[in-house]
Amino acid sequence: MPAREPDHPITIHCPHCGGQSILADACARWNVETQEWELSNVFDNTTCDDCGIEVSAVERPVQEDA
Ligand SMILES: [Zn+2]
Repeated sequence: MPAREPDHPITIHCPHCGGQSILADACARWNVETQEWELSNVFDNTTCDDCGIEVSAVERPVQEDA
């Protein structure tokens, strides 16, 4: 997933229900110093938590002037 410019925030939507309960597959790596899981890699596979299925997430720009 490409990095996002902070000037152009987006929201991630499910193409089926339109919700934003989208989960992305990711890898986390244990950091001994902070004693926390650190996000190591985020994959393109996305799942809708509401529909319970793998979906092709839809990206929409945030409407700041709404
Ligand atoms: Zn959904």
